[in-house]
Amino acid sequence: MTVAIVWFRRDLRVHDNPLLAAAQRYDEVLPLFIIDEKITEGRRASAARNRFIAGCLEDLDLALRRLRSRLLVLCGEPAHQLRAIASDLRVEAVLWSGDVSPYSRARDRRVHAALRELGVRAIEHPPNHVVDVGQIETGAAKPYQMHSPFHRRSLTMPRRPLLPAPRRLPPPPDLAGLSVLRQHPRLLLETLVRHPPSPHPLATPAEPPAPIAQPGETAARRALSRWLSSGLHRYAHGSQTLAEGATSRLSPHLRFGCLSALELEQRALQHPHPSAQAWVRQLSWRDFFAHVLLHSPGNLSLEHQAQLRGMEWEEHPERLVAWQQGITGFPIVDAAMRQLARTGWMPNRARLIVGSFLTKDLQIDWRQGEEWFSRLLLDGDPAQNNGNWQWIASVGTDPAPVARRLYNPTLQSQRHDPDGLYIRRWVPELSAVPLSALHQPSQMSECQQRRSGCWIGRDYPAPIVDHPTQRALALERYRRSLPPPPLEAASPPRPR
Ligand code: FAD
Repeated sequence: MTVAIVWFRRDLRVHDNPLLAAAQRYDEVLPLFIIDEKITEGRRASAARNRFIAGCLEDLDLALRRLRSRLLVLCGEPAHQLRAIASDLRVEAVLWSGDVSPYSRARDRRVHAALRELGVRAIEHPPNHVVDVGQIETGAAKPYQMHSPFHRRSLTMPRRPLLPAPRRLPPPPDLAGLSVLRQHPRLLLETLVRHPPSPHPLATPAEPPAPIAQPGETAARRALSRWLSSGLHRYAHGSQTLAEGATSRLSPHLRFGCLSALELEQRALQHPHPSAQAWVRQLSWRDFFAHVLLHSPGNLSLEHQAQLRGMEWEEHPERLVAWQQGITGFPIVDAAMRQLARTGWMPNRARLIVGSFLTKDLQIDWRQGEEWFSRLLLDGDPAQNNGNWQWIASVGTDPAPVARRLYNPTLQSQRHDPDGLYIRRWVPELSAVPLSALHQPSQMSECQQRRSGCWIGRDYPAPIVDHPTQRALALERYRRSLPPPPLEAASPPRPR
């Protein structure tokens, strides 16, 4: 009798799950999830994400029950728990998909060591990316530093075939002899799925957030089908607008592996139009930033560009709070930050605008923005969050002249929210402000303020900084830290 554990982590699905295919060769299979409190309760923990995980686990358990199995959920240190279960059940192998963050890699090394001591096989599959981000390398056998060549190379890498959901799964072993359950009988899924997260006081909206995505594979697959049939075809032209439905909103599902990244790519490419290719290219940023963190784990605390590591950032606690709370007086920034607090998500274009605003206009350290995002984002993920924050702070991969990623919030607002629907939705105190003043309400005359019932400084804040002044200061600050600019920087920057 052979017994294996399938250790679910960020692959909470039954479709296209290589672990479940590999598990078929054992007589008994225990599907297991371990709640690691260092993640669910740590400094970067997110109440919204914890709720989302709980929903994903419930959905996965239902799917496994349809396969005559079930999910066991435990809480504790993974190496310790796996060692205990593996020896109680005389397990032959533990299967899991790898991860790229330094924390998970250190944890996995402890698990490998614990299983090795017991003589149990540890079978680690590649993480949920389109390609194996640990295998891809430049012609000089180095990691990539730029997305475009990474993507070109990635398109030539082999793909494994997509896997259907299994029709059956080997039954779970008898858990009666499991010491961990004798000691902690509460640790079964029924009770633990309600694991209470501790939210950050500032990050807790008064009302429960309006979900942008329902947790679990079932909802994720519905969202994917909807996107492929009615959203994808507009992507090449509309992905930058802040309008509802312009992008897929599948990122929370990818974060927890409720969807397979490879399946997303393959199904999108069945649609023969340029939007499918544009979307697949965007999806490959996710692989790229995972590749970057895998090879540069120090990026979680340090700038990817070594010459910018000594850069001075400003300490502005009140400005930081204004940014976090969405009361900066820049409507597009405030709309985006309030959407984040209410829903745990914001579109990529909005993330770029608020990221540029924090690091360039407010001159606040990108790490503060990264930490705030990681507490609130449903899709919050160390590799993606870090890679993107470094990118928009002009300290990461894909270096470009700073002026190119220093956005004018008012121009961005006019360009990407031209009808003002996004601002009006998230900043209700501006709802009666005419479109001509909506992107810069501080410019309203007294008469306009009276007519729209919105007095600047009373109903809506005056801008907390002057963009042209801050822009000049930011350029100077980067100039002091950077070596002489590349030739490209000599050409006049495009208006942003
Ligand atoms: P779509 O446009 O429909 O794209 C499809 C998928 O491609 C996304 O779901 C996502 O998995 C991937 N993708 C798209 N753009 C990017 C990108 N720039 N980088 C990496 N992957 C991308 N994404 C996260 O998943 N987690 C994060 O913690 C995160 N933090 C970010 C922080 C900042 C400052 C910025 C600028 C971006 C961040 N992103 C992060 C990337 C991006 O904003 C989101 O992935 C995207 O907005 C998700 O929306 P969507 O699913 O509708 O994307």
